[in-house]
Amino acid sequence: MSHPSLYPVSAKASARTHITDDVYQQMYRQSIEQPDAFWAEQGKRLDWITPYSKIKDTSFELGKVKVNWYSDGSLNASYNCLDRHLKSRAEQVAFYWEGDEPGVQKTVTYQQLYDQVCRLANGMKSLGIKKGDRVTIYLPMIPEAAVALLACARIGAVHSVVFAGFSPDALGSRIVDCDSKLVITSDQALRGSRATHLKDNTDAALGHLGSASPVQNVIVVKHVGKNIDFHPSRDVWYHELVASQSNSCEPEPMNAEDPLFILYTSGSTGKPKGVLHTTGGYLVYAAMTHQYVFDYHDGDIYWCAADVGWVTGHSYIIYGPLANGASSVMFEGVPTYPSVKRIAQIVDKYQVNILYTAPTAIRALMAHGDSPVAGADLSSLKTLGSVGEPINPEAWNWYYEKVGLSQCPIVDTWWQTETGGILITPLPGATALKPGSATRPFFGVKPAIVDNEGHQLAGVAEGNLVILDSWPGQMRTLYGDHDRFEQTYFSTYPGVYFTGDGAKRDEDGYYWLTGRVDDVLNISGHRLGTAEIESCLVAHDAIAEAAVVGYPHEIKGQGIYVYVTPRVGVEPSDELTKAIRAWVREEISPIATPDLVQWAPAGLPKTRSGKIMRRILRKIAANEHDQLGDISTLADPSVVEILVNNRLNRK
Ligand code: ATP
Ligand code: MG
Repeated sequence: MSHPSLYPVSAKASARTHITDDVYQQMYRQSIEQPDAFWAEQGKRLDWITPYSKIKDTSFELGKVKVNWYSDGSLNASYNCLDRHLKSRAEQVAFYWEGDEPGVQKTVTYQQLYDQVCRLANGMKSLGIKKGDRVTIYLPMIPEAAVALLACARIGAVHSVVFAGFSPDALGSRIVDCDSKLVITSDQALRGSRATHLKDNTDAALGHLGSASPVQNVIVVKHVGKNIDFHPSRDVWYHELVASQSNSCEPEPMNAEDPLFILYTSGSTGKPKGVLHTTGGYLVYAAMTHQYVFDYHDGDIYWCAADVGWVTGHSYIIYGPLANGASSVMFEGVPTYPSVKRIAQIVDKYQVNILYTAPTAIRALMAHGDSPVAGADLSSLKTLGSVGEPINPEAWNWYYEKVGLSQCPIVDTWWQTETGGILITPLPGATALKPGSATRPFFGVKPAIVDNEGHQLAGVAEGNLVILDSWPGQMRTLYGDHDRFEQTYFSTYPGVYFTGDGAKRDEDGYYWLTGRVDDVLNISGHRLGTAEIESCLVAHDAIAEAAVVGYPHEIKGQGIYVYVTPRVGVEPSDELTKAIRAWVREEISPIATPDLVQWAPAGLPKTRSGKIMRRILRKIAANEHDQLGDISTLADPSVVEILVNNRLNRK
């Protein structure tokens, strides 16, 4: 079936939008030409304790990199997410919490959230936590996770959230790296009815660290109600700690450049990096992007289906939506439990207007045909969002037609843990959409494409994506390692921020992310992005998901090694393999024809956030599976073993 390659802004979207295309053009120009005036105005979306007079004070010069925004202002992030809303929104729901099991649910109003945050903030103070101390949060998607982040922000403690799916070792190394005094966890977590033993994992992590553990206390939320080992000298029950605390706690005045949080990147490309974000610029940027990118309006029901363990959860479940006084759905479970209909059921149940999820979830549902949406209404939806990986046009179209009923713009948002918020994205009422393209830069963002020597390419171009100047949500440093920060992001192409991603720019100035630069293939001298071949593969009826990597090839330099997961009900065969090679040859070009096609019915190796780990697949393809590197962020190691056993290159 053929689909349009351009979707003009719909009448429905332009009728409701904050930002039309004219407004986008005019605001974008101002944001680039007069950044101080532009961001001075945007800063007013927050309540400040001390008003700012300085706005932008930044440099990308190697050896002298600095990123300061609003640096003589002071504010408190939790005040901006809670206190200032109470006059008008005390009884408004902040979170509709939907548990792992259907029927298990809870609502939390702004007043209740405020009370809980103050109690926990006071409780943390009673344990000796002060401004600047680091606190590791290892919690499932439960309201207490939001409470914990905001309670840290309230007293000026720096939170470091570790995704609840991580192992004791991954947790331990993150605790040590940022020297956390306190861990907040729960007895267990539930996802898709499977329990993760968070408290046991915490005990194991701290046990392994022994006397090297910086942790003085562990606060334990009783969530599932299972028995745990309790160390009375160290462990504190959450409910007991907060019971005796007052529900009022003065927010700590924070300089705009005081740290708000540390968050480790998802580790797709190697050892995770401890990204540090500060308070003022981050919050301005999170609130602004949440409003404009999703075209959020007061009264909308908003659902970001990410986990609070990722930056998407920080910026678009907690800080952005709460700064804007939004009502959000918070979901504990997974899209496929108890059935593939769960996402559609939650949308209908809460009449969700804005849904933000990841290509990995969309592809997982799409593999089941229409059944994930069969019988659902879905007419409440107005805007759909995607984040985390390039979204293949095939998945885009499925999302657009089956979930959005061909009426909702999809915002394909490109950004990183490092960028704090969305940098390249359509705006629902302003941008004509092209499936697979993240389209245009957000306000204040100056992307460019450079060749491998760092020369900027004009017009239609393909190469390495860099950002030329700072924006308020940008990371400030890697925690405890400013040198690695400069080396990682500013040394490859001096004077600009290097994203690590490849991109194309088309004749309309739209950006298309082509995958990690490290993953780009060079076949007989032709550069091929992995994203393009993968999109072609998943457009084939038999294929649910695909990953493409290069491997050493005697004649071509690099050969194309393809891993494919069949759709539900499809049996791999030699004939199908042939058909798939022919399909890619037809659809793209003979150069792109896969040399080796390995079926992966058990799935592909992914990070815990659902991204395909091509670096591991590259090692298997090169027959170097004894050198897999850091696999601590891998979701399911058994998948790797199966792929290694069935590998096609044994030379
Ligand atoms: P690490 O840096 O540790 O390897 P990571 O890059 O996966 O991990 P994140 O910060 O969570 O960690 O992910 C950011 C990356 O995700 C981007 O650099 C890009 O490669 C990819 N990405 C995110 N959104 C999109 C998108 N809309 N289109 C294409 N790629 C995207
Ligand atoms: Mg990265």
